[in-house]
Amino acid sequence: MREAFLRLAACALLFGLAAPGTAAPSCGATGIAVQVLGSGGPEAADKRASSGYLVWRDGRARLLVDAGGGVKLRFGEAGASMADLDAVAFTHFHADHASDFAALVKSSYFEDRSRALPVYGPPGNAIMPGAVAFADALFGQSGAFRYLGDFLDGSASYTLEPQDVKADGKVVGVGAFRDMRLAATAVEHGSLPALGWRAEIGGAVVAFSGDTSGKGELAALARDADIFVAHNAVPVGTTGVAHALHMTPDDIGRIAAQAKVKKLVLSHRMLRTLGREAETLAAIRVHYAGPVEFADDLSCYPLNPANLNPASTK
Ligand SMILES: [Zn+2]
Repeated sequence: MREAFLRLAACALLFGLAAPGTAAPSCGATGIAVQVLGSGGPEAADKRASSGYLVWRDGRARLLVDAGGGVKLRFGEAGASMADLDAVAFTHFHADHASDFAALVKSSYFEDRSRALPVYGPPGNAIMPGAVAFADALFGQSGAFRYLGDFLDGSASYTLEPQDVKADGKVVGVGAFRDMRLAATAVEHGSLPALGWRAEIGGAVVAFSGDTSGKGELAALARDADIFVAHNAVPVGTTGVAHALHMTPDDIGRIAAQAKVKKLVLSHRMLRTLGREAETLAAIRVHYAGPVEFADDLSCYPLNPANLNPASTK
């Protein structure tokens, strides 16, 4: 018995096998990579973490996009550190995009971080808070996690800097961090304020649709992106309210083609799209001929250094 166990352990070492959920944290160890932390939507039954993404460069996670349920666990499994982040960018404040944020902030208490952490999100409206109101609802004086209020009032080792990003009708620059620039545009997600995000880092371009019907400046946001992460939340033929919230595969293919993206990554996979990959891909192929990947939790997409502009990788 013991011998069998040892043989199995030796095999695991030889072939780099890891137990589920304990994948070796190697994404982005060198160069630039996008990692999907959560590839699912709001349903527990999809058995995936909800929305969350990292942009890595040379072993450091530089940008976190969204922090839905399960993302805190995947963030740890990915080997990421809150201390390395230049910014957190929310697409919107639905629970499946934001509910693990407080857990990540609490986790950062045990790390060594002194520089402020910008936290971007859309402005609020009658039914949804903006980034500033969201942070206040968590960590403000009357917030649910007011015991973590030090992270807002300047008395913790670092300070969260929430900022509402107004980007209606155009793509706007949001922040510059050494070799990384962020831009956002407002996207339609029913009646909710929502943003798509673009990160330019070391000559690479990564774009995130967030949840959206696809109406708006998404193609401009994703223009020439090396990777476009699009949310595959509804199947072919979706109409009505669900289509005001989410892109169909037809929409995704059209936008990917219009934006001339180099790779399309499909995430926010839900029970209504899981198992329908063939028809999803066929609908996308009507418009877009480039590589298409269906993401799982912790999927890692390195950017080929040959495609990058060496002059801008300093
Ligand atoms: Zn969502």
